Amino acid sequence: MILNNSEKQAHYNAPQHEHIHDDYEFFLDALRDKGVRITEQRKAVIQALLSSKTHPTAIQLHEMLLETYPTMSLATVYNNLNTLIDYDLIIELQSNDGSTHYDYYHNNEPHYHAICSSCGKIVDFKYPVLSDVELVAQRVTGFQKTSHQMEIHGICPECQEHMADLHPHQLMKH
Ligand SMILES: [Zn+2]
Ligand SMILES: [Zn+2]
Repeated sequence: MILNNSEKQAHYNAPQHEHIHDDYEFFLDALRDKGVRITEQRKAVIQALLSSKTHPTAIQLHEMLLETYPTMSLATVYNNLNTLIDYDLIIELQSNDGSTHYDYYHNNEPHYHAICSSCGKIVDFKYPVLSDVELVAQRVTGFQKTSHQMEIHGICPECQEHMADLHPHQLMKH
């Protein structure tokens, strides 16, 4: 989904663009460490994702990138996103409309997501890292954890209001 500017500001109170440089260097260092080749296109995909605050889809990133890289294919965007996922640098989120959105952790600090089942909006929230849950998961399943995500699914405030307008009596039963 595409958010208008006032919605973007409402959803993100993190300072815009200030730390992108640090995150970018972190990504490049991590890839170099793993011996991953860093191409111009790879850099461009990373920069596009880091500068986006709206959990973009690959198609939205591709549209952003076409402004500067008119010959870049959507497949290239997907390939690069998949590489970044393979190295745990970015995460995938499924919206209720079946589309896949991409995100990263600013300063490598995990944050979590609330996803609206009605409009598909994805909103960030912070919570102390769930290290206990990871330990329990490792103990119970024997898995060696590499990452974790948490998603809360529900109805966003705007959709709640919209539903209250449409069905005033249903909501009053709560
Ligand atoms: Zn909603
Ligand atoms: Zn996020």
